[in-house]
Amino acid sequence: MSKKANIIIVEDEADILDVIEYNLSREGYNVRGYRDGERGLEAIREDHPHLVLLDLMLPGIDGLEICKKVKEDPVTRDIPVIMITAKTEESDVVLGLGVGADDYVSKPFSPKELVARVKAVLRRAPLKETVESKDRISVDGFVLDNIRHDLSIDGESIPMTATEFRMLHFLASHPGRVFSREQLLSKVVGSDTVVIDRNVDVHIRSIRKKLGETHRNLIETVRGVGYRFKY
Ligand code: CA
Repeated sequence: MSKKANIIIVEDEADILDVIEYNLSREGYNVRGYRDGERGLEAIREDHPHLVLLDLMLPGIDGLEICKKVKEDPVTRDIPVIMITAKTEESDVVLGLGVGADDYVSKPFSPKELVARVKAVLRRAPLKETVESKDRISVDGFVLDNIRHDLSIDGESIPMTATEFRMLHFLASHPGRVFSREQLLSKVVGSDTVVIDRNVDVHIRSIRKKLGETHRNLIETVRGVGYRFKY
């Protein structure tokens, strides 16, 4: 594994959160902790981490509800979730309710056990390539070169706007994953101050036109959700 996973932890007990953060950071993972369920869920949707550690008992929205929401949403469904439960009985609840948690650990747990569980779950769900690591994406005559900022179709270079290029590159870097219009927009706007057309559909239409009849289907519309790049 060349790049360490991003992990979000939602745990309201500060002491436990500290212990988890410390031990996972020491393993080289990029860790972010939240003590509030609502904010944790928001961060999961925004950051799309490689793994979520979720405490069962949280004030406000509890861990089960968060897990259900993560697993129901096509955009976040593929993120593995490990539930942290206080009692062994609760482990049965987590699995029995079928909220889709990938694993659970019961408190009290040893840091060693937790790290082992995290590693095991991540192994089952290999790290998705990140945008940064994808310099060249090539599918069937479609070649996206992120270093030269160039798209070519069957050897012919296709002029694109910066926004179109970034949107296409983001989608193509995560093949098979569905992104909402809001997510696409937040990815391409980034920290730029440049004003762009916020209508994602307009950009997608233009990109498809440039991809041409042979390759326009690489971008698939997922009704009611958003868009995805086909393999
Ligand atoms: Ca708790």
